[in-house]
Amino acid sequence: MHKFFSIFGNPVSHSRSPLMHNAVFKNLNYKACYTRTLLQDGTKLKETFFALGLDGANVTVPHKESAYEACDEVRGFAKKIGVVNTLINENGKLIGYNTDADGFMYAINEFKNIKNILVLGAGGTAKALAQKFVEEGLHVNILNRNQARLAYFQNLDLECSTWDDFVIQKYDLVVNTTSAGLGDENLPAPKEIIDTILNNTRYVADAIYGKVTPFLQLAKDKQLTCKDGADMLLGQGVLANELFCNFEIDKETIKKEMQKSFLY
Ligand code: NDP
Repeated sequence: MHKFFSIFGNPVSHSRSPLMHNAVFKNLNYKACYTRTLLQDGTKLKETFFALGLDGANVTVPHKESAYEACDEVRGFAKKIGVVNTLINENGKLIGYNTDADGFMYAINEFKNIKNILVLGAGGTAKALAQKFVEEGLHVNILNRNQARLAYFQNLDLECSTWDDFVIQKYDLVVNTTSAGLGDENLPAPKEIIDTILNNTRYVADAIYGKVTPFLQLAKDKQLTCKDGADMLLGQGVLANELFCNFEIDKETIKKEMQKSFLY
């Protein structure tokens, strides 16, 4: 029997997930197919998932918190942060996982001596990364446009600010987890703040992939060591694919096949 998977998001047309997962399925003769689904209303996630007869799915912006709400059971790291990016149909029950944070740790493996991190944004990805960084013993600052989403991070005892009360520090790494630059040409904060931040960090990472965002371009212009979200995407994808295939394929093989899809 063929298995069916999809990614839910809005926008979703930019997503490379179908290419990545289908590369694994096709190259390894695994009987499965992965599509993309534009979902406007996050509260319709569960009914859409089952109406499409899916065996599993990924969830991207802006539905990862709705995905958490939709699950019958949430497992592992996703439970700690209330954010789900991978869904599995387990005998008609919707099971949620989060593979973003481990995917990101894989991506920044080559950045050395990271101690102080500034996270731009306070959405689902920021939650996943901040929680992971704290578990890794790193010092985390959060900067977000609005106050509302900062409450979660204040409860974790992290240093939080909005654009209005931001005070610069020295960072080892700055990560853009906002969606600024995804479907527009916005910076994640006003230019003068971003300039100051980039003048005070060694490394820069953007969660967005497939384009050079204005933020990443500015970092490149300043000759900083930086990377876009492609490796993070690969890392979270490998872990999601393991779940989709019920651990029948080993991680290194999945990674090797998925990497090929980045050449298409
Ligand atoms: P959410 O919708 O949960 O959060 C978005 C965040 O971005 C919020 O903090 C929001 O601030 C902020 N934001 C949105 N627009 C702007 C703007 N114009 N200026 C400043 N801040 C803004 O999104 P996710 O956390 O799910 O995803 C965020 C990004 O990360 C997306 O671009 C997504 O594609 C990318 N991503 C990449 C992955 C990869 O594998 N490479 C994995 C996961 C995510 P506010 O609270 O003020 O609204």
